Amino acid sequence: MRDVLDDTDVLRAVLDESPDLIALADDGGRVFYLNRTGLALIGLTGLPSDPAMTIDELFGCAHATVDGPCPLAHSATGRWHGPAEIENVATDVPIPVRTTSFVVPRSGGRGNVTVWLARDVRGAHDDGWQSAVETSTYRAAEQQAIANLSRLALDGDIDQLLDSATTAASTLMGVDRCMITRPIAGDDDEIAVVGFTGQPPRLPTMPARDKSLMGYTMMVDEVVLCYDRDEETRFSTAAMASFGFRSGVGVPIPGGESGPWGVLSVHSNHNRVYSARELSFLQTVTGVLSAAIRRVDLDEQLHARSLRDPLTNLANRTQAYQRIDEALARARDDGSSVAILLLDVDDFKIINDSLGHEAGDRALVRVAHRLAAASRDGDTVARIGGDEFLIVCEDVDGIEHAQRLADNLTFAVNRPQPLGTEPLPLSASIGIAMSTATSTRQELIHQADLAMYRAKDIGHGGSAVFDHGDLYDADRTRRLSVDLRAALGEGELNLLYQPIVDIATGRVVAMEALARWRHPSLGVIDPTEFVAVAERTGLVGGLGEWALRTACLQAASWRRFTDVGIRVNVSAMQLRDTAFVDKVAGVLRWTGLEPAALGLEITETVSLSDNDRVSGTLTALHDMGIGLALDDLGSGYSSIAYLNRYPVFECFKIDKSYIADLPDPRATAILTAIVMLARAFGLVVVGEGVETPEQLATLRECGCDLAQGFLLGRPMTESQATIALATSGEQAGAPA
Ligand code: C2E
Ligand code: CA
Ligand code: CA
Repeated sequence: MRDVLDDTDVLRAVLDESPDLIALADDGGRVFYLNRTGLALIGLTGLPSDPAMTIDELFGCAHATVDGPCPLAHSATGRWHGPAEIENVATDVPIPVRTTSFVVPRSGGRGNVTVWLARDVRGAHDDGWQSAVETSTYRAAEQQAIANLSRLALDGDIDQLLDSATTAASTLMGVDRCMITRPIAGDDDEIAVVGFTGQPPRLPTMPARDKSLMGYTMMVDEVVLCYDRDEETRFSTAAMASFGFRSGVGVPIPGGESGPWGVLSVHSNHNRVYSARELSFLQTVTGVLSAAIRRVDLDEQLHARSLRDPLTNLANRTQAYQRIDEALARARDDGSSVAILLLDVDDFKIINDSLGHEAGDRALVRVAHRLAAASRDGDTVARIGGDEFLIVCEDVDGIEHAQRLADNLTFAVNRPQPLGTEPLPLSASIGIAMSTATSTRQELIHQADLAMYRAKDIGHGGSAVFDHGDLYDADRTRRLSVDLRAALGEGELNLLYQPIVDIATGRVVAMEALARWRHPSLGVIDPTEFVAVAERTGLVGGLGEWALRTACLQAASWRRFTDVGIRVNVSAMQLRDTAFVDKVAGVLRWTGLEPAALGLEITETVSLSDNDRVSGTLTALHDMGIGLALDDLGSGYSSIAYLNRYPVFECFKIDKSYIADLPDPRATAILTAIVMLARAFGLVVVGEGVETPEQLATLRECGCDLAQGFLLGRPMTESQATIALATSGEQAGAPA
């Protein structure tokens, strides 16, 4: 049977059935055979014959790998091995492959044949290839990063933008470093490093022109790819070598007529393929940077002239920002709140495109007049971008007040005019952000912007108030909600326990259960994130029941040797569930824990409207003898006003943002006032987030009863907590 190897039918069948791509090319690189796996990978049913496909076309990233080392390797050893990428023509999805290529010489004047073998390595975890991450997740992450950068660009804080851009590029691409460099006026030899990830570079400058990758990129003003330092001939790689980089990409950041504004570069410590998708991601990033930079430059020029918007004569962005800063400073002094309303004209692009820029301008002027007329005296109405307006409202009494102010504005804009006096009815959507004691201007604008997008989602002409769930993009929410559902069943979640300590005696009175989720591929996820996801996707009930059951079971076992209580966090949303009380009662029966040992901390992460159902739930829990604590008091969501609405709380937990400011006199005064109020109502006060002895001392002086924080004990695993309780019980000498 040895002759089977001469049987072309047999060989052909072997080639066709191979699970790897097999391509045969002639000397000119034209592919004359591609097996079935290969056709399927690139999404074709047959090989095009006219014009014939080339090896370069077959491998999407040919310029990065196949062109460079491959011919060299072929001439030296007749063989080449390395990573490449194939683009599927039907789906546009790039597919990472490992490639082997070799030349088969043929005698008798027949041209040589180059054989290409390629193995799809998606899902394979070998040497740093990024296939572990699904392409689609990757795309979503990139889009999310670009969306975040675009939002930052809106704020006009260039330093923060550069910082986020380098972080996004290096984390998403998994490179060792990302840098942003800029020309130095009047210096031809060096360029300045203005942004970077990781440790600050030894020198704040890099060599210019063809003395470095970045210099060269700036000089030629186009994308420069260097897949292997040793093969580089266009520029000096001494700078790369000094950092230990083996490969890198430079992408110019478009500037004015005098050349690029700067260069965004990524660097890796190993030879690496930079895929077409990654390059286009980097170019999108530089596009966002370039637009933001141009905008800020323009702003500065405008600022030199005036603080007004010439079209509408409203305040411009610079002045709006000043007003926000002043308002926040005042609010911090007198404890009031500022509302930032970000208004965007609905479908303005359509007006502009269909009726022309003049009509667009007239519409903006009309909106401006109506906003100015409908806002309160003292509010600042500003135009901060094309069709975006920002209204700064001081002395706002809570979210509902802010919503009324927003309603007045949308109503004024949406109000129809007498027939024939305007070309188009207008409408606008508003995002609302309320300041807290620690809000910054950037934060508030970002929050208002996110809320505005949600307002637009809900429908035109309305408003939405920022909530923390807005921080998480819909895609991640969808993914996390799917995974969370599974995680609840698969034991990926666990509870940590953090002690709550009696300040006077130093004894642990209770343990607070804090949920943790170790996601199999995304790592540890912050509870503030997954609780928000759970709240938005209806999983909060399941999560809450799991936490309650686990914590109560644990507490029941601790109660055998100590009188320590357990505190479990409950989302305000769970209280709307009419069966919640029964579920709690069921857990207590099942675990044998007495009700007095259980405390529920109500965390208000979504606005809790005053409704009878919530009130009924709280009263029933209280009547069962369960302790109720209002969590995060002062954080902007939980408010002392709940004391009147729900007179069943027995405990206040003062938000860590206040404790962090202690012993600052203002924070101390606020704390004292809260403690006095609590005393008047017979409530227990817990200070949380205590990190320093000074903070603890101040809490003691103010008359605060209990404290919690890293100083007194970090969140611990159940076994650590059990040991801590057993030993502290011995010290106190008297377990109950
Ligand atoms: P929280 O209820 O206000 O919990 C206190 C948070 O402060 C915890 O964060 C805790 O680790 C952290 N912390 C404690 N001491 C200190 C300190 O000294 N300094 C600082 N900087 N932080 C300290 P964590 O565990 O990330 O939880 C965040 C929030 O997630 C919790 O805030 C709570 O609102 C929510 N959460 C956690 N577990 C659950 C749960 O099972 N159900 C619900 N609904 N929410 C939960
Ligand atoms: Ca809590
Ligand atoms: Ca809290």
